[in-house]
Amino acid sequence: MSKIDNLKKQWEAIFSCMGCGDCGFAIRPAVGRYLVCPVKEAKGEEGFEIWFSRGRMNVLKSILEGSLDLSKELAEFVYQCSECGSCTDTCHESHNPYIILNTSKWIDHVEVWHALRQDLIKAGFAPLDRHAKLIEYMNNPDMRNPYGEPKEKKFEWLNDVKGVSKTGNLAFYTGCTEPLRQKETLLNLAKVFNSAGKEFAVIEDEWCCGSIALRIGDVEAVKPNIEHNIEQIKKTGAKKVFVACAGCYRTLKKDWPEILGQDLPFEVVNVTEVLLDLINDGSLQIPEKDIETIKVAYHDPCHLGRHMDFYEPPREVIAKIPNTEMIELRRNRNNAWCCGAGGGVKSQFPELALEIAKERIDEAVESGIDILLTECPFCVENLADSVKKENPNMKVLDIIDYIATKI
Ligand code: SF4
Ligand code: SF4
Repeated sequence: MSKIDNLKKQWEAIFSCMGCGDCGFAIRPAVGRYLVCPVKEAKGEEGFEIWFSRGRMNVLKSILEGSLDLSKELAEFVYQCSECGSCTDTCHESHNPYIILNTSKWIDHVEVWHALRQDLIKAGFAPLDRHAKLIEYMNNPDMRNPYGEPKEKKFEWLNDVKGVSKTGNLAFYTGCTEPLRQKETLLNLAKVFNSAGKEFAVIEDEWCCGSIALRIGDVEAVKPNIEHNIEQIKKTGAKKVFVACAGCYRTLKKDWPEILGQDLPFEVVNVTEVLLDLINDGSLQIPEKDIETIKVAYHDPCHLGRHMDFYEPPREVIAKIPNTEMIELRRNRNNAWCCGAGGGVKSQFPELALEIAKERIDEAVESGIDILLTECPFCVENLADSVKKENPNMKVLDIIDYIATKI
């Protein structure tokens, strides 16, 4: 029998699943039947219960009761969940003021999946092959990023910008995806700061924040990164650190303090909060132009939205951009449809990630927008990949890139 120490801590949550199936699809008086789990929908006809929360909860009950064991086969299913948290937002929500469920909000599904992944790692059934490579690259002293790129490459974008320093009150934690895969967004960020006449500090020897390894369940692999990065951030003297990646945001703001068991010596904010300050204090001026209004929508990344309850600052920034009409997608905020990339799905199961994104892109096209904005490099990449395949006329952009086109 494999050790299941982490799952045992989730005993109450797992056994409070009453098997209603709302995490597969739910029916609510105001909206009728609506879909909940992106993986269940993407799997379509395959329809196994284990693709969504209820089936997995039943498996976990059997594991806790000792009638089933962890296995490699189980890991193959479990890592196809994008950890979007949509099931948590639907579970135990009666939406009827006369029905009070005593179990309400006992289940934090993402925490349950995280416990399961940690135990699968400890039992040797995970990481899966592609995930193992990402963690190996992250811990390689010549790389320190999950992309397997040489360490120096992460800092190359700095050769093309001005207005950055090694110390300052405000530091930028870049993460790995933008400097290694979406360098243009960082150049645009510097352009926006230059236009506002402001500077930020960069972290000299920044390593991966560990988001991907944490989502895979390998907490031990991340601890050296946390300690190293905090020391590097301290060297900048910054009291405030901003990030422009939803995964980094959750990891720095929630996971690092939880793993360390103490508060960080600096505040962590999202880039949209910094942009909003620059606009509100008048330093960032975005001129109104005599051009057609562009229709945009904002896609809520799961790691910002449902994971961190962070919904409004990106919308407030967009509302301040001239010649821009913001339209809400049918499913928005805590009800937003996942892009499909999270939880390690994009790296291990790229076709599944694209299939989930297709549903979101169809929804965006249906809303009549020109550009789908978001604030996460993973969402940008996966949604843009899906657009290229399905609807090449629509654009997907990071909010930073959109602002840069306006100044
Ligand atoms: S919605 Fe919640 S209680 Fe209902 S089956 Fe899913 S996990 Fe269980
Ligand atoms: S976290 Fe998202 S993908 Fe995973 S089971 Fe819940 S709804 Fe489905």
